Amino acid sequence: MRAVVTCECCGNRQAVARQIQRAEIFFVVCHSCESVLRVEVTDEELRAAQATPRTRPATRV
Ligand SMILES: [Zn+2]
Repeated sequence: MRAVVTCECCGNRQAVARQIQRAEIFFVVCHSCESVLRVEVTDEELRAAQATPRTRPATRV
């Protein structure tokens, strides 16, 4: 899944560049104010994201 993180300081929303395959905790630096944001992905969120994919990867033949 792809995560979108909203900065608690400035409210800037940014997409996490890395793919998230399992529940984990990692840190992202805000592109706007450079504060460190703690991102926690739970199994539940992961399942929800997989159950309702918003964007399908485009497949080309
Ligand atoms: Zn920020």
